[in-house]
Amino acid sequence: MEIIISILLSCIIISFILILITQKNINKINTNEDKPCLSEWDCPECGFHIQLGDSCTYCYTQKPL
Ligand SMILES: [Zn+2]
Repeated sequence: MEIIISILLSCIIISFILILITQKNINKINTNEDKPCLSEWDCPECGFHIQLGDSCTYCYTQKPL
């Protein structure tokens, strides 16, 4: 009987760890999407397409919020 209880306890602990790992991965993906430097945008002043950074590389206009 003790063996069954220990197996059940280990199963619960393993599933709990797996849930924690998957939740951490989801949070990492969300934070990456929120980073402004990774998103592309078009400059409102000159229409230049900026792939990296918060300021236009052509006319140095700051990225609109
Ligand atoms: Zn520009």
